[in-house]
Amino acid sequence: MKKPFESVAVIGTGILGTQIAMLAAYAGYKVCVYDTRDGAFDETYAKLYSALKAKGVDPFIAWDKWEECKKKIRFATQMGDALKDVDLVVEAVTEDVELKRKVFKQMGENAPAKAFFATNSSSLPISRMEDSSGRPERCLNIHFYFPFQGMNMADLMAGTKTLPEAIQKGEEWVRSLGVVPLRVKKETLGFCFNSVWRAIKKHTLYMWANDFVDFRDIDRAWSIFTGDKEGPFAKMDTVGLDTVFNIEMVYYNESKDPRDKPPEALAEKVKKGELGVKSGKGFYTYPNPEFLEPDFLNPKK
Ligand code: NAD
Repeated sequence: MKKPFESVAVIGTGILGTQIAMLAAYAGYKVCVYDTRDGAFDETYAKLYSALKAKGVDPFIAWDKWEECKKKIRFATQMGDALKDVDLVVEAVTEDVELKRKVFKQMGENAPAKAFFATNSSSLPISRMEDSSGRPERCLNIHFYFPFQGMNMADLMAGTKTLPEAIQKGEEWVRSLGVVPLRVKKETLGFCFNSVWRAIKKHTLYMWANDFVDFRDIDRAWSIFTGDKEGPFAKMDTVGLDTVFNIEMVYYNESKDPRDKPPEALAEKVKKGELGVKSGKGFYTYPNPEFLEPDFLNPKK
């Protein structure tokens, strides 16, 4: 597989940055990570490991390769050290535009001129950060979905000045990780698949909040129709209902269209701490949610 770069840095080693660094190490890149929080990588690594083991999920990187990949990753305590001679920097810090702008500025000051910059943001187009980097033509969105759970796809999207070479190399890099690239041809909120998923979320939440149907019937119908074990409500519970709510608010704040406002019933669930899998209750109750029961798709009563 063609390798467009030699050396990659990941800034922010939370739940996504850690997976991206591991994927890159697994694919044979030189990888360095940097996080402002001490021990962030180790903590996330351990959380991911135990969560996937508990779920019985077979991750993208075979279990016996995890330690080997981890050992290949260099940890930097300064941004400047992390970006020494790097070809690609992937920013995966907390979803906050001002923070990301600050990080892009630091990246611009510390990385060699040859380096390309990608953001893994789930909702912010690169055009919101590109100017602070001082090199907008080398900036792009590369949005990974949650590779360790088998969601091996990533959106690629250009900003206002992105060079075709940046998208081309980004796409080759994504492919070299064994991840499927999804090219977004024009800037749009939600990229390729998140836009589709968002339409599904918005409509299913509307149907539930306005009491047209029981949410379980939507999940049943989804599973029967697609063969997928988890319907939209089960998936929202996995993502976290607070995250779902915040993302819906990003769309609403952008459009100011009342039809984009997440339903009050969802806000109430979040206020009550019903956040889904992470809090033990969301639409379903965990660890044994109803949709995993054998007769869920065809209940006796
Ligand atoms: P997270 O909260 O798990 O991790 C964020 C990390 O960034 C933390 O470890 C934090 O210490 C670090 N950080 C904060 N400020 C920093 C700075 N100035 N320099 C270096 N590190 C800093 O978040 P996450 O879920 O991994 O999300 C990271 C990015 O990936 C966000 O933009 C998010 O939208 C995107 N994303 C998340 C998911 C998901 O399912 N969680 C999926 C796709 C994309």
